[in-house]
Amino acid sequence: MQWTGWSLKLGRVAGIDLFMHATFPLLFIWVGLIYWLQTGTIAGVLFGLAFIAVLFLCVVLHEYGHALTARHYGIGTRYITLLPIGGLAALERMPKDPRQEIIVALMGPAVNVAIAAGLFVLLTLTGGWTAVDPEAPLMMMPGNFLQTVLFANIFLAVFNMIPAFPMDGGRVLRAALTFRMGRDPATQLAARIGQTLALFFGIMGLFGNPFLILIAVFIWIGAAAEAGASEVETRLQGRPVSRAMITDFHTLPPGAPLSRAVDLTLSGTQKDFPVMDGHRLVGVVSQAAILRGLRDHGLGGRIYDVMAEPVTAQTGADLAELMEALQQDPAVRLICILHGQQLVGLVDMDNLSEFLRIQAALRDR
Ligand SMILES: [Zn+2]
Repeated sequence: MQWTGWSLKLGRVAGIDLFMHATFPLLFIWVGLIYWLQTGTIAGVLFGLAFIAVLFLCVVLHEYGHALTARHYGIGTRYITLLPIGGLAALERMPKDPRQEIIVALMGPAVNVAIAAGLFVLLTLTGGWTAVDPEAPLMMMPGNFLQTVLFANIFLAVFNMIPAFPMDGGRVLRAALTFRMGRDPATQLAARIGQTLALFFGIMGLFGNPFLILIAVFIWIGAAAEAGASEVETRLQGRPVSRAMITDFHTLPPGAPLSRAVDLTLSGTQKDFPVMDGHRLVGVVSQAAILRGLRDHGLGGRIYDVMAEPVTAQTGADLAELMEALQQDPAVRLICILHGQQLVGLVDMDNLSEFLRIQAALRDR
């Protein structure tokens, strides 16, 4: 097991790394406590813990439903993380084809429906149904574990189909609207619908279940993030790289000492450097790599000790594609822009943000 930031890697299933966020065990402590307060028995606590463990197994299967469907359309998944509020499958991107987006979004809740249907058949065949005590909260039925898991899966499917980002239902809504209008207007409208729902949940939460307030905040933020990302993408689409690339920059030869990189870093604003062997681009060094090199080799270390494969694009590429490439992999800090084989410019995240700010200022005139 290995830690990456705040997440612990649990393993690799179907070619996708499965992580658990550091806050995830808090959920088990919380659930254990609730069951202890409600039942006062160790058996009750164990029931609660077993229930939440099985529930999260269902959540993981739900996320694999998304990930494996996306893979079917050639879209990879970077990782799946378990958070106390649910699972998160980090797809490299969402399908641009609305029909595919609907199917990818639906395949998560479909997994929960399938689990519920399987349990329904099992309980019916074995005569395992027990009467639900209307007085007892849903999770407090130690008499029938499978029945509780069945209801929880129905809840998961319904909850995820709420038509608001970041829920699956929000993506289905956006994709359905995309058939009638462009993708960005559809996203903006879906985000507004989601925020209206969030407002409604928030008000209901004030008068009833405070858990609804938490969900409302979660939806509000998700909708705003999705609307913002879509607007950015629209503004970058169709803009050639040459409009926004850095053309005034320093390069380093592979044999240069790290002290040369330190001098350039301190005397200017450039943080990451292309590595040039004569006129040929052979690598890039990021600030993180330079710092790592200084720790391992000192000032006398060489650039070739720390350089990485360059990520490149041609001058005709689209700025939206570059943004996607920079967001997909946080290790990629810099994209080298080539004209044929010749290095003509650089694009990084700061540069794209500046471009967007300038565009916004010009638009607001
Ligand atoms: Zn989902």
